[in-house]
Amino acid sequence: MAETAAEILTNTPSDLIRKQIRINGIVQGVGFRPFIYNLANRYHLTGTVINSADGVIIEVQGRESAMDKFSNSIQDEAPPISMISSMNSFEIPLKRNTAFSILQSQKNVSVNTLISPDIAVCPDCISECFDPKDRRYLYPFINCTNCGPRYTIIENIPYDRPYTSMRHFDLCPDCQKEYNDPNNRRFHAQPNACPECGPKVQLHDAKGSILTLKNPIKETIELIKKGKIVAIKGLGGYHLAVDATNEHAVMELRKRKLREEKPLAIMVRSLEMANKFCFINQEESEALNSIHSPIVVLKKRGGISIAEDVAPRNDRLGIMLPYTPLHHILFYYDAPPLVMTSANLSEEPICIDNWEAFSRLEGIADFYLTHNRDIYLRSDDSVLIHLDKSLHHIRRSRGYAPRPIFVKSKGPTVLAVGGELKNTICLLKNNQAFLSQHIGDLENIEAYSFFTDTINHFQRIFESEPEIIAHDLHPEYLSTKWAKKQLDIPTLGIQHHHAHLASCMAEHKLEEPVIGIIMDGTGYGTDGSIWGGEILTGDFSGFHRFAGFEPMPLPGGDAAIKAPWRTAVAYLQKSFGELPDLSFLKNLSTSPIVEMVEKNVNCFQTSSCGRLFDAVAAMCGGLQTIRYEGQAAIEFMQKADSLNVHAFEHRIEFRDDRWQMLVSPIIHSVVKAIQNGESIQKLSSRFHKTLIDLFIEIVNIAKTETGLSKVVISGGVFQNHVLFEAIIPKLRANGFEVFTQRQVPMNDGGISLGQALIARQQYN
Ligand code: ZN
Ligand code: ZN
Ligand code: FE
Repeated sequence: MAETAAEILTNTPSDLIRKQIRINGIVQGVGFRPFIYNLANRYHLTGTVINSADGVIIEVQGRESAMDKFSNSIQDEAPPISMISSMNSFEIPLKRNTAFSILQSQKNVSVNTLISPDIAVCPDCISECFDPKDRRYLYPFINCTNCGPRYTIIENIPYDRPYTSMRHFDLCPDCQKEYNDPNNRRFHAQPNACPECGPKVQLHDAKGSILTLKNPIKETIELIKKGKIVAIKGLGGYHLAVDATNEHAVMELRKRKLREEKPLAIMVRSLEMANKFCFINQEESEALNSIHSPIVVLKKRGGISIAEDVAPRNDRLGIMLPYTPLHHILFYYDAPPLVMTSANLSEEPICIDNWEAFSRLEGIADFYLTHNRDIYLRSDDSVLIHLDKSLHHIRRSRGYAPRPIFVKSKGPTVLAVGGELKNTICLLKNNQAFLSQHIGDLENIEAYSFFTDTINHFQRIFESEPEIIAHDLHPEYLSTKWAKKQLDIPTLGIQHHHAHLASCMAEHKLEEPVIGIIMDGTGYGTDGSIWGGEILTGDFSGFHRFAGFEPMPLPGGDAAIKAPWRTAVAYLQKSFGELPDLSFLKNLSTSPIVEMVEKNVNCFQTSSCGRLFDAVAAMCGGLQTIRYEGQAAIEFMQKADSLNVHAFEHRIEFRDDRWQMLVSPIIHSVVKAIQNGESIQKLSSRFHKTLIDLFIEIVNIAKTETGLSKVVISGGVFQNHVLFEAIIPKLRANGFEVFTQRQVPMNDGGISLGQALIARQQYN
């Protein structure tokens, strides 16, 4: 740039200053530099902006007041996908610039920049997509720096087109021009594409043969309207799509997918449409419309046109809005509400590869709507639920991962490999905890290979080698076994519920000891028994099992988990010494279980809260066998109508070095109520009330004995909204400061974060 007389410093007014501003976070490939460029022009500032190994470096020069406005605007107006983790500025000597310019990136700039999650298509791209005069009219892969695929198409870093699955597509001159122009909203948009140069969709039949069609997307909708099952390739994998209002099609999908009763999520055209099916509050509608575009589990309205089989006997429905241009085009062609469920067999990871889809979905999908932009890393839809005035993750995946959770401590790099069910991994690097997308239940082979792939991918894209590996204490978890095979890195086993406690602490940057109410199904205890209903006190450096439920027999382990009636029989036998007269026991073959309990053979001892739920639900006339994890408890919870009832009898006693919340008195009291003919609604309400009273009583004892008054709440049982929404205000009323999980799931999807923090603390 040629200098002019105006640039001579001697002529500059004395109130000019120059500052250097360094910004870290998700600031690369998200439209950050053009954003800065435009801001600088708005406030008549001169200077430069550049991507460097230390993040984005801005030099600006101008009047101090303009400078302040500039800094504030950076914070307030940053591009939607970006995330500023730190921003530091200091004064530097004045320079001669007449304009503001974007400088060429330095080489290897990726070191400290973060990778963005995949982002829902933005309003600007949507309006272009449906503008008949636009060159991307109805183009299903339209995107810009503010939206589109990121994490799932990145194979390596730095985040540049040659390292993404877009490398197979050469930009056409028009797209290249946009890519090079700092004033264009596609400046450095790595997945930039158009119908000339970008990916294309194709429709295949059940055998994988291509169908030559003018408009495959329109044809897809015709097929779906005829009741067909179509596998549709999306951002993080394939969905199986059927018409959600077609009872027969939904049933057929369930049958083929072996997902007999688990609720399926649906995608609807708009928020307005979602409102017709469900009650939606402010936070929920914001989440549905957000750049993350998760599934939100909503309260169903009555008499809706959605097939009952979508979420059988469930008062909630998981809904998401279209989040890719392809989804929007499906609805443009008048798609009905669509069941959009991860394309896999039940509990296997989502399919991503075209040929993988053809083989794994054989016999499930009638047709495949595919495209030729590869997905490098699968990522399921995220799932949120609104509990006690805020949203909580049931599953944190597409749209959120791999955004870091910022934690307080710094120290060695830790890889935490999570649990067995709902597995996620966590890479803890400095003060950033990178939690992976949902990996799934490791017991199936596809999920296990996805687990090892994700570990490798994480180490590559975050450029870090762990100094320690944290795993669950359970010796049989595949994640534990994997950790133990890494011979050159020290490993540390972390107790499951301690990890739950630490996960909640980490989110809230707590370091001081807390009381944890940790309620879930199964976790390996330090004594080798199965824990699951624990009141712990502790912090990252250790914990004390302050209280737990009285250990009860679990006949045959997994067999009982799948058949709550077995657990019920065992709990009754243990509580009464014989089986009381209850109608649910009529046609059951109870004697083998009674014998197992009496002789204590093939019986595990458990303090699980989930199993207590199962047992009580089964006795009270709830489900005798379940088709998915937690089903008995969920359906029993939905019977609860008012907590304005008397609790069942319950007692807390000090036994075996800890307080025990006795189970037998509860079972006695439940049986009496059943024999008195109380309704399942009342029984469920009373059971919930009992748990709440018990928890309040026990944490009050903990407070008296330890002086602690901060309570963290975690464990999958608390996804029960009746319990969750009643206990929080009660705890507050009792003088406790309460912390719940907002950024990561309270179920086992969140434990890798806790494992990582504990391992770092104990290794230091
Ligand atoms: Zn866009
Ligand atoms: Zn193009
Ligand atoms: Fe758990």
